[in-house]
Amino acid sequence: FSSQAPGKERTLIVVKPDGVQRRLVGRIIQRFEQRGFKMVGLKMLQVSEDLLSNHYRQLRMKPFYSDLVQYMTSGPVVVMAWEGHQVIQSSRNMVGQTNPAEAQAGTVRGDFSLHVSRNVVHASDSPEGALRELQLWFRGQELLDWECIDESITC
Ligand code: ADP
Ligand code: MG
Repeated sequence: FSSQAPGKERTLIVVKPDGVQRRLVGRIIQRFEQRGFKMVGLKMLQVSEDLLSNHYRQLRMKPFYSDLVQYMTSGPVVVMAWEGHQVIQSSRNMVGQTNPAEAQAGTVRGDFSLHVSRNVVHASDSPEGALRELQLWFRGQELLDWECIDESITC
């Protein structure tokens, strides 16, 4: 988790259950790949309430929290770690505002969702948050530091 060197910043992106159920996973991955970010971790899982209450610990007192838990445990999620230059801020921009009604067209939420309680995707919001969330969702060995084989491919 230590590689926060320039260009090696990492963030956590989660395709939430509605994104999986609506077959949006491929299109979301495509956006991050085409932007130039590097996938360094990927898995599908059913979230436990324990993990969720840790992940969303600052929201536990919110009136929508129990609906949020129901939503996030309604089916599997796809969890990703992405690496690259200013990936934390850039991916927040790519994901768009929390409330899809306020999210710009061209963002994931602005293009694929309508309701704040079904907003398709999570992205870490700060360097501290990204580090904490990557450690929460991934084991160290699940994050892979890879390079291109040689100059025979553009990479
Ligand atoms: P973000 O996901 O953009 O970082 P927050 O951290 O504020 O937003 O909230 C976490 C998640 O909680 C949101 O993505 C959304 O799924 C849910 N949420 C936030 N606000 C509301 C709300 N007013 N009503 C229902 N769900 C909400
Ligand atoms: Mg947040």
